[in-house]
Amino acid sequence: MKPNHQPITEVQDQLELEIDGMTCESCATHVVHALEELKGVEDVHIPGWQSGRATLMADTAVSDEDLVEAVEQAGYEAAVANRRTETGSQHPTGNGHKADHDLIVIGTGGGGMAAAIKAAELGYRAAIIEGGTIGGTCVNIGCVPSKTLIRAAEVYHRAAYHGFKGVQTRAEGVDWSALMQHKDELVAEMRQSKYVDVLASYGDNVTLIRDWARLKSDHQVILDDGRVFSANKVVIATGARPKILPLQGIETVEVLTSTTAMALEQQPGSLLVIGGRAVGLELSQTFARFGTQVTILQRSPRLVPDHEPEIAEAVAEALRAEGVTIHTGVIPQAIREENGHKVVTAEIDGKQREFRAEQVLMATGRTPNTPALGLAEVGVELDERGFIKVTDRMETTNSNIYAVGDVTNRPEFVYVAAAAGGIAATNALTDEGESLNLNILPEVIFTDPQIAKVGLTEAEAVTRGYDVKVSALPLEYVPRALAARDTRGLIKLVAEQGSDRLLGAHVLAAEGGEIIQTVALAVKFGLQYGFTVENLREMLFPYLNQVEGLKLSAQTFEKDVAQLSCCAG
Ligand SMILES: Cc1cc2nc3c(=O)[nH]c(=O)nc-3n(C[C@H](O)[C@H](O)[C@H](O)COP(=O)(O)OP(=O)(O)OC[C@H]3O[C@@H](n4cnc5c(N)ncnc54)[C@H](O)[C@@H]3O)c2cc1C
Repeated sequence: MKPNHQPITEVQDQLELEIDGMTCESCATHVVHALEELKGVEDVHIPGWQSGRATLMADTAVSDEDLVEAVEQAGYEAAVANRRTETGSQHPTGNGHKADHDLIVIGTGGGGMAAAIKAAELGYRAAIIEGGTIGGTCVNIGCVPSKTLIRAAEVYHRAAYHGFKGVQTRAEGVDWSALMQHKDELVAEMRQSKYVDVLASYGDNVTLIRDWARLKSDHQVILDDGRVFSANKVVIATGARPKILPLQGIETVEVLTSTTAMALEQQPGSLLVIGGRAVGLELSQTFARFGTQVTILQRSPRLVPDHEPEIAEAVAEALRAEGVTIHTGVIPQAIREENGHKVVTAEIDGKQREFRAEQVLMATGRTPNTPALGLAEVGVELDERGFIKVTDRMETTNSNIYAVGDVTNRPEFVYVAAAAGGIAATNALTDEGESLNLNILPEVIFTDPQIAKVGLTEAEAVTRGYDVKVSALPLEYVPRALAARDTRGLIKLVAEQGSDRLLGAHVLAAEGGEIIQTVALAVKFGLQYGFTVENLREMLFPYLNQVEGLKLSAQTFEKDVAQLSCCAG
């Protein structure tokens, strides 16, 4: 099972077998032993019994039948799925030496994990290197802690907001340290079960190496402790970190980032949030719901400028209704400490204004973790914002090096990073030639109501030359929203006039994120098979569900919303 460090000079075949009947790790061990017993067979490897696959090297004299029979003798079924002739080292590094691994992955976030796992599933050996906390951003300081805090804030806030008669508003305050501890427990549990244990389950196929790494060549990485590892291909999945605006005085004032805001020992009484996109809005509402006085300073003329203007306006209204103060068109310039408060000086409409609060949160985007990786030395180019340039196949400008996730110039979502990781490993190790297709990219911002979108906005569709029609349905026409006594939000559909194809959908609704995947399918099949708005109208939707709003929005292309009956369709 261990990699052979001696170059193989004779002609050998690389084989992949499909194995049926394995039900546990010891089955895998039996199969490996049975195959290794055969003369001329070596390097037998099963990436885990669940894979139902084995890879091995065999002399050309060893026939397919010999291999199948050996497995059958051990009590399992086998078929040869793939046989390729290999000459020389099966792990060439380009310098005549055999590599330690087939693939080295730098970073254990969603992107890196997916790359290492895919390599193992394909029957290769990967090393995954982590200098920080295993699991990277999403589980430790991103999706998981933010979403559990958001949900806690929602629960705390819900009875008060929705105004159900007979339901009491929570009187007790928030136990901040218990809240933080609960969040930390969830993070620790998920890091262990979804990252540490998963890596361990791949045994020898994925080796976890703990240190900071940089590229020594396009086949080698060197760690801070001086160890050098080599591989045929390298995947960079080093992620990104919060970007701090270079405000005048910033070096003298400690500001919060999303990471430190979610780890505060004490709830701040007041908070200035610089930035009105996903992270800024999610954390603004969370803190506000727990009782912090929150002010958002947004540079663009509106919040969430990548979303439909109606959605931006409605979410601003929802946040203001909860006591959040919002300023748009703000250009922050300087920051200072004064009497225990932080003061941000900013320009609005050509005038100077000052904003003060106990804490300031910078939610102004993320900076890629590229410095100190030695990228320039190996010819890996960055784009003008400093992100690694990649093709849709996740290749960098050095054909031996791939990059995935937040460190690249692709959207910063964990599911994009993970998809890219699998594609990078596949392309690095095989000749499959897979591409990352982001045509249909569902996105969710976890405010309450949630902002969700897929496909084109109205403005994007017009710019692309479509003859566009739109429908916008306020949530007060959706029975589920009425029953839940939460009619904040709307659903906007963008379609093409003549073809009636759905081009985009934009949702602001409680749990709107749960709706968006349905409409993502409609947009996808609209593009592929001509699924139309009419098809959406015709479909049966379960009554008293928020997703029914899609059908109602489809109907409003034709009908006045006021004529929509509750249940008559
Ligand atoms: C507050 C917040 C909330 C978010 N919420 C969501 C959400 O709800 N849904 C969603 O899809 N996305 C969300 N995201 C984005 C998501 O977390 C990221 O897109 C995703 O985690 C990126 O994964 P990655 O693998 O590219 O990088 P990361 O997860 O950042 O992993 C990179 C890893 O590489 C390691 N590393 C860096 N340099 C080196 C080196 N030189 N040597 C060794 N190791 C190194 C780092 O320590 C890190 O562990 C959120 C992000 C934030 C900040």
